[in-house]
Amino acid sequence: MKISELARLTAEQLRQGGIGEARLESELLLCYFFGLSRVEMHLADRAVTADELAGFAALVERRLNRQPLAYILGEQEFWSLSFTVSPAVLIPRPETELLIEAVLARIPEPTTFAGAILDLGSGSGVIPVVLARELPQARLIGVDISPAALEVAAANAQRHGVAERIDWLAGDWFDALAPVSRFAFVVTNPPYVAELSRPGLQPELAFEPPTALFAGADGLDDLRHLISQSPDFLLPGGGLIMEIGYDQGETVKTLLRAQPALEAVEIIKDYAGLDRLATARKI
Ligand code: GLN
Repeated sequence: MKISELARLTAEQLRQGGIGEARLESELLLCYFFGLSRVEMHLADRAVTADELAGFAALVERRLNRQPLAYILGEQEFWSLSFTVSPAVLIPRPETELLIEAVLARIPEPTTFAGAILDLGSGSGVIPVVLARELPQARLIGVDISPAALEVAAANAQRHGVAERIDWLAGDWFDALAPVSRFAFVVTNPPYVAELSRPGLQPELAFEPPTALFAGADGLDDLRHLISQSPDFLLPGGGLIMEIGYDQGETVKTLLRAQPALEAVEIIKDYAGLDRLATARKI
């Protein structure tokens, strides 16, 4: 069998297994397995050996068992950069690029901005790494409760040349910091999925760290904590920018408005028209 034929058969297998972008995933798996780019794969079609066939079948089996493609490939694209991912971290989602855009929209002079930014629950580190690249003078702190996640984050900072401007701290939200720390921005993509919705979720989510996804019965446990603590860690005029769940806008708005030290509360929707970010400013 040739690679091109294997691509077609694999796509069919994935489609029957209920995988949405079956053809694309088939090609990505083949490229990964054979160590080829997509262009190379199309140009250098050749016969597949029996050993290769067996090795590749094992990879496809993992995907059919609904292991996320990003964990199999060990890579996920975010902000047009390639990030290392492992099952120790949540796979970066495209929606989270909106959070980056919201931060950048609040900084009139990105090249000279030399403030400090705190990212809580960094996971793979995409938020601090991308902000460090977009804000070449900024200093960043990334916090995560999982040391294994911070290893992935630090590797990504290294990979993208911003390691010297990001400090990674292991700890439980603000407990990781000295109480005197004050930031120009506090940003976070915390867990916000309702525990109660767990049974109805895509099977792939079962492979991701539950602590990165779930936050109590209504999904708001961590957001409540972050909203109550963040005013103490923001400079006057500093910005709080949080990713939230698709239906949490109204509740989060109320929680933010109940904080006397915060103003300018806003809920921002994503391109699908769903609640995605909550922002506020320290008075
Ligand atoms: N957006 C993710 C999802 O839908 C959830 C990420 C999170 O909880 N921060 O699975």
